[in-house]
Amino acid sequence: MWTLTFPPELITLLLRTSNLVALTGAGVSQESGLRTFRDAQDGLWKQYKPEDLASPQAFARDPKLVWDWYAWRREAVKAVRPNPGHYALVEIAKRVPNFTLITQNVDGLHQLAAQTLKVFETFRVLELHGNIQRVRCSECYTFTETWDDDTESVPRCEVCGGLLRPDVVWFGEALPRDQLEAAVEAARSCEVFFSIGTSGVVQPAASLAYAARNRGATLIEINAEPTPLTLKANYFFQGKSGEILPELVEAVWGA
Ligand code: NAD
Ligand code: ZN
Repeated sequence: MWTLTFPPELITLLLRTSNLVALTGAGVSQESGLRTFRDAQDGLWKQYKPEDLASPQAFARDPKLVWDWYAWRREAVKAVRPNPGHYALVEIAKRVPNFTLITQNVDGLHQLAAQTLKVFETFRVLELHGNIQRVRCSECYTFTETWDDDTESVPRCEVCGGLLRPDVVWFGEALPRDQLEAAVEAARSCEVFFSIGTSGVVQPAASLAYAARNRGATLIEINAEPTPLTLKANYFFQGKSGEILPELVEAVWGA
């Protein structure tokens, strides 16, 4: 166990801030055991790149292949738990009056961490890329709670007969407008913006950090590696979010 030293002026800033945004990416869930898009895929799926499965073209070409990949990822998500990074973000939310979490993750682990710590109202999560546990019709958008994964073909919508698909944003698709608009608004009005475990190359999420910075927010980045954003950040902490975030919470709020 090593201990980071955080600059005193950063600690003061975090103690007095009333408006904070955290943007998270796949790196935050890495320590829960979920792979980022940059990690190689496992076993059965080794031969595919996520970009070749997570697109409308891929679904049109081979819907069953795409469905099965998501069914496998859904099970992987169900099998894991939030990690100390997820919990630390809930602790921050408890202490900062106006807190918004914007995530590119589709795993729902932020919400699970908040539920586990029994924090509800103060934990606002905007999901930019949807949620892998939700399933909807690819034609009429009707959501479905139950379906059969063990069929020869992709299960169909009970309303219109269209193919079911995960309610996630695929490459080339638009982001949910309400979530994106709220995210832009939050980024523009915050005092402190955290970018955590995201490669900063997937747009428009990456541009939120710049929007915040241009409006005068302090930009803090936590990542295992430097990213295109690092040079713009006021503070960069290199390492695992599941280690750095709890240390930061401890250093600032003594919790
Ligand atoms: P990415 O895979 O492009 O980048 C992950 C980033 O996390 C990298 O910069 C890496 O250096 C960093 N990282 C890895 N482990 C870390 C750790 N323990 N602590 C801190 N940083 C760590 O992911 P992205 O930027 O989120 O964007 C790619 C897309 O991947 C998104 O659209 C997202 O929807 C999707 N995705 C989501 C999940 C999930 O929901 N868990 C998993 C894989 C991919
Ligand atoms: Zn339908």
